[in-house]
Amino acid sequence: MKQISSLAALFAMTTLLTTGCGGPTGTEARTDDFQWQIDRFDDINVLRYRVPDFDSLTLRQKQFIYYLSQAAVCGRDILYDQNCKYNLPVRRTLEALYTAYDGDKSAGEWLAFEKYLKKVWFANGVHHHYSGDKFTPEFSPEFFDSLLAATPAERLGDIRGSLLDTVKAVIFDPALYPKRVDQTAGVDMIAASACNYYNGVTQREAEAFYTALTDTADRQPISYGLNSQLVKEKNGRIVERVWSADGMYGPAIREIVKWLERAAAVADTPEQEAYTRTLIEYYKTGDLRLFDLYNVAWVQDTESTVDYVNGFIENYGDPLGYKASWESTVNFKDFEATKTTQIISDNAQWFEDHSPIDPQYRKPHVKGVSAKVITVAMLGGDCYPSTPIGINLPNADWIRRDHGSKSVTIANITAAYDAAAAGNGFAEEFILRPEDRELRARWGAMGNNLHTDLHECLGHASGQLGPNTKGDELKNYGSTLEEARADLFALYYMNDPKLVELGVIPTLDVAKTEYNTYMMNGLMTQLTRIEPGKGIEEAHMRNRALIAGWVYERGRADRVVEFVSENGKTYVVVNDYDRLRELFGELLREIQRIKSEGDFEAGMALVERYGVKVDPALHAEVLKRYAALDIAPYSGFVNPRYVPTFGEDGTITEVSIEYPADYVEQMLTYSSDYSFLPNRN
Ligand code: ZN
Repeated sequence: MKQISSLAALFAMTTLLTTGCGGPTGTEARTDDFQWQIDRFDDINVLRYRVPDFDSLTLRQKQFIYYLSQAAVCGRDILYDQNCKYNLPVRRTLEALYTAYDGDKSAGEWLAFEKYLKKVWFANGVHHHYSGDKFTPEFSPEFFDSLLAATPAERLGDIRGSLLDTVKAVIFDPALYPKRVDQTAGVDMIAASACNYYNGVTQREAEAFYTALTDTADRQPISYGLNSQLVKEKNGRIVERVWSADGMYGPAIREIVKWLERAAAVADTPEQEAYTRTLIEYYKTGDLRLFDLYNVAWVQDTESTVDYVNGFIENYGDPLGYKASWESTVNFKDFEATKTTQIISDNAQWFEDHSPIDPQYRKPHVKGVSAKVITVAMLGGDCYPSTPIGINLPNADWIRRDHGSKSVTIANITAAYDAAAAGNGFAEEFILRPEDRELRARWGAMGNNLHTDLHECLGHASGQLGPNTKGDELKNYGSTLEEARADLFALYYMNDPKLVELGVIPTLDVAKTEYNTYMMNGLMTQLTRIEPGKGIEEAHMRNRALIAGWVYERGRADRVVEFVSENGKTYVVVNDYDRLRELFGELLREIQRIKSEGDFEAGMALVERYGVKVDPALHAEVLKRYAALDIAPYSGFVNPRYVPTFGEDGTITEVSIEYPADYVEQMLTYSSDYSFLPNRN
């Protein structure tokens, strides 16, 4: 529940400025001709990111990153299978046909086939990575059959007979597995969702299973269900198939473990080696208590330069929110950019004490909010190719309560977004007032980074539950409301003179441009990501629509924020920044109350009223104007490649970094060299 997704694709900066706050960096991007964008298809841009300062790391740190980067790609197949149980055979079939083809590569149907495969790679399956809707192929079943006929059967392995028939049906039948995650109120969300976290059980049975396990008196509960598939056996018994070295996904997990063992031996500190070995034990046994032990030690490690995430982490992909998708990142600290973030986290208690929420829901002692700016070195699983720009972990509420959390802003990813988006015409099209465009050019990047810092290192960590609240009462509205809470905390403090006083920002103009951007995005421009006729479904987007819609309505009589029509185009304009800040504070107070009291009804009412519905006329206009700019609404990244040099005794004597520029080649390489799971798991 704690990821910030790639807003930056929409917040394309027209000018790059070195920010000095929370990080990056435009300088490097601006001054040379590094090729940031390497592919474009459908609604996707594929970019590269740089890893500045990799060469200044020690040999040991480079070895550590190399081993961790190998572990980061070994779990790729797991995510495919989690997203839908036929994703692996679909991917392998497509790849076999793709690599066997020697016909005309400029033919229309071939290009449509290639585009489809590129989309499947990007989404780690047949459903869009963001909307969750199944892709519609733009090539015919007959063309597919002709490719199949030209492909030697042995390239398809055991994909034949009924499995091959199913693969075809998954690709071509729109009624089969239409959505990866369906959280429509009133439906059986398990039956309606294509994800592979449950097998043969109903939503009611799954909820009963986990409710029975939960001990409400346990102050340190494990994350029940996090690392398993829930299955009903033939005899009717419901059991968990645990993801561990000897369990489900074992072949991939054993590879991850192999690389983590090598990594542990060259960790930055003895503490880091110790918790890495705890993580290995957890992978071997599947024991979630070990995962908690690992997280407690990990969150306390703020000294290591190199850091990583590797595991079953986020539960966005499970409509019920129990199961976590596999992901990994490898990163190291950006010491210069971390200074500003440090000021924010050093003052965490001040922010908590002055928060506009009901005092009984403030945290009396904010624990260990560590924040840093990082340079990411490798992305894997659910962080690849689409990746967050900020992360706050761990997710277990009791660990956050008792030990705090680690919050990171990923500077080199944000820098890559900004560099790739420079001059794309977005600001000219959607921002009415020239002074607002100037503000954005001057302070936009800083505002965006500051929002991420405040959201991650203070927002999610703030507040506390009431005495009789467990924390899971908000159910399918929980993610949206939690993101709204963190965003509101960031928005409220963004415009606080305290930030200038602390030296975090030089002027409140930073807040003005962030307010402009947030309101424009939430009320209007984020609709570019929604297909005509659809509502808003993704949690972060619902949150932004909710916040923007609520404050717009509350401030309407005073014209705090306005829709302005000019030359047949609609614009969002903010007139009163101080009043807008007060409204953000009022909504923060209400959403904190909803979370602290577990008020499901009030939470549902807010999300359903403001966060879901779309004005069809405005939607159509935004899509048209955006299409004219020809900007892909989503971006993702290929990884760099780490190349070790071995000495005569077999030890690594140097690790160099390369920046591949071929998306297809990276995907095919990963599929041939890092694919460990069978077609049926
Ligand atoms: Zn968040």
